[in-house]
Amino acid sequence: MAMKLNERGLLVVISGPSGVGKGTVRKALFDRENHNLEYSVSMTTRPPRIGETDGIDYFFVSKKQFEQRIKNEKLLEYAEFVGNYYGTPIDYVEERLDKGKEVVLEIEVQGAMQVRERMPDAVFIFIAPPSRQALRDRITKRATEPERIINKRMQKAEREFGMAHKYDYIVVNDTVENAADRIMAIIRAEHAKTERSIHKYMKILEVE
Ligand code: 5GP
Repeated sequence: MAMKLNERGLLVVISGPSGVGKGTVRKALFDRENHNLEYSVSMTTRPPRIGETDGIDYFFVSKKQFEQRIKNEKLLEYAEFVGNYYGTPIDYVEERLDKGKEVVLEIEVQGAMQVRERMPDAVFIFIAPPSRQALRDRITKRATEPERIINKRMQKAEREFGMAHKYDYIVVNDTVENAADRIMAIIRAEHAKTERSIHKYMKILEVE
């Protein structure tokens, strides 16, 4: 009988410039029925916004706690983003992937590049704005933040535009539902990719 291969799950990295709507697209994806995606909740030192819940939106921690995590190598990646730390707890990701689950990260670009180094098998999706103006509008309309922060986010987003070529896929966020559809299609296609599916096919051949 064919040996049972340990099938690791697929890691999907959703990334892109600040203010492009990654978070909204990710939420729309998880609101859908009939998916097996699992969201990796990030850790951050930024204070919660109104309506955010610890353990659901983020794990909100102090700078000291975050730096301890870095020291103990408990983060798959992390980045400093407009004055705060953001990072992906590694244990959850490893445990779910080992169980064959599909794990989604929604992170900014520096972190995505670190994941690319450590887990080149992951799928990297760049969420792009339909236009530069659309991005500017989104960032300036984010009323919860002072102007100084908004300006910093805009400058950062401009620089991040140029990083799209480092990703496997570019998804334009023209509408949230379109973007979510495209991501679902990418995940489906990734599963059918020869290098990911050939061993399953070989098993079928062995049995017959
Ligand atoms: P926000 O403060 O708006 O929730 O997030 C700011 C940025 O941090 C967003 O671009 C978001 O995608 C990114 N982000 C959230 N979690 C992580 C993480 O774990 N690692 C990295 N590198 N970026 C993250």
